[in-house]
Amino acid sequence: MAMAADILIVGGGSTGASIAYHLAAARAGQITLLERATLASGTTGQSSAIIRQHYSIPTLARMAQRSLHTFRHFAEELGRDAGFRQTGLLIGARAEDAEGLRTTVAMHRELGIDSRMIDRDALHELEPRMVTDDLVGACYEPEAGYADPVATTMAYAHAARQLGAQIRQHTRVSSLLVEGDRVRGVLLEDGTQVETRTVIVASNVWGIKLLADAGISVPVRSTRHACILLQQPRDFGQQHAIIFDFASGLYLRPEGENLTMAGTLDESEAETVDPEHYNALPTHDEEERFAMRTAERFPAMGDATLQAGWAGLYDVSDDWQPLIGPFPGVEGLFCALGFSGHGYKLCPAIGTLVAEILLGRASPGIDRAIFSPDRFAMGAQAQSTYAFGIIG
Ligand SMILES: Cc1cc2nc3c(=O)[nH]c(=O)nc-3n(C[C@H](O)[C@H](O)[C@H](O)COP(=O)(O)OP(=O)(O)OC[C@H]3O[C@@H](n4cnc5c(N)ncnc54)[C@H](O)[C@@H]3O)c2cc1C
Repeated sequence: MAMAADILIVGGGSTGASIAYHLAAARAGQITLLERATLASGTTGQSSAIIRQHYSIPTLARMAQRSLHTFRHFAEELGRDAGFRQTGLLIGARAEDAEGLRTTVAMHRELGIDSRMIDRDALHELEPRMVTDDLVGACYEPEAGYADPVATTMAYAHAARQLGAQIRQHTRVSSLLVEGDRVRGVLLEDGTQVETRTVIVASNVWGIKLLADAGISVPVRSTRHACILLQQPRDFGQQHAIIFDFASGLYLRPEGENLTMAGTLDESEAETVDPEHYNALPTHDEEERFAMRTAERFPAMGDATLQAGWAGLYDVSDDWQPLIGPFPGVEGLFCALGFSGHGYKLCPAIGTLVAEILLGRASPGIDRAIFSPDRFAMGAQAQSTYAFGIIG
């Protein structure tokens, strides 16, 4: 049996759902999203969901700024809440980090982002429980926070449906149908062919094989990242801000009133894995390491107890930036993957950008070239100024 759509999106995470909504809102034609399991069942559901504007690359800072605006006004636009919670972000600055952070802050202030450097005394006043001996101060972004990635995806999918898009769950794409120099559709696992002139591969690490089977190689690998959830000791006090600790490569995110999520910023701690077969739980060593680093920075967390843990996947590209746009040489084939562990916070801007590209509209203030899938061959990569690629 054959079916048809104007635009097919493969993957129902935060990326695919946002793209479906933005295309449907722009009246781009009949939009169909195909998800092999359930919405947000991929890496979106594993996300720490930190929403910050701190990027050293101006285009990304701008996209994060626009996305944060959407998260703050989500229910007004989408009719449902994404659970945004403002907590602030503190990036501890050692002497060797200070200049890079200052440069980024200056760029942010030009963009109108509320970001500032604070000295050690001010840091101590803001967060007296934090060990600051090795720091000269911090970069402080008060507007940062986190939201609920599953609720975000559901809200985008719901709004897309209201605008006429079809969202089909439990529908796995087994291959892309490419004939000559253009895409013709996709083949589903049950043998159904779906005909279309435009396919958007928004299937994260699983998209690598889908593309490879169609003869397209992307410089993206699948890496495993563990997170743990700690119950704070009773006397810990008020909830802390999000913390990026460049010294130990640790990040901390508050959860609710008395929990702390801990993970690593350091890619050298992550192994490349087969996305279909990997250990989805933290190892004992990871649990100990993250808990120990947390207590080193926050001695008041020394008696924290482990509540939960999981390990998710990053779709890491060679320059840590996503691949968003058409594939030269295969008309109608687009991709939106390679988000390298920082794609959730950008999903509102990604949906906007994909709709602009497909509809031939301009993207003011956005340097699209740094996302071009063929930039690696063209040498147009944008490099973060930080040692941890994920900061961007
Ligand atoms: C541990 C962890 C922490 C993170 N922390 C943050 C953070 O703090 N801030 C941030 O901004 N980002 C963070 N990220 C990254 C962020 O979560 C991702 O970049 C983002 O959610 C990616 O969304 P996606 O829709 O592209 O991918 P996914 O959510 O993985 O969606 C892809 C979907 O495609 C489907 N699919 C795959 N193959 C097929 C097929 N053949 N047919 C049909 N469907 C298919 C999958 O089932 C999946 O649902 C984190 C990620 C992890 C793993």
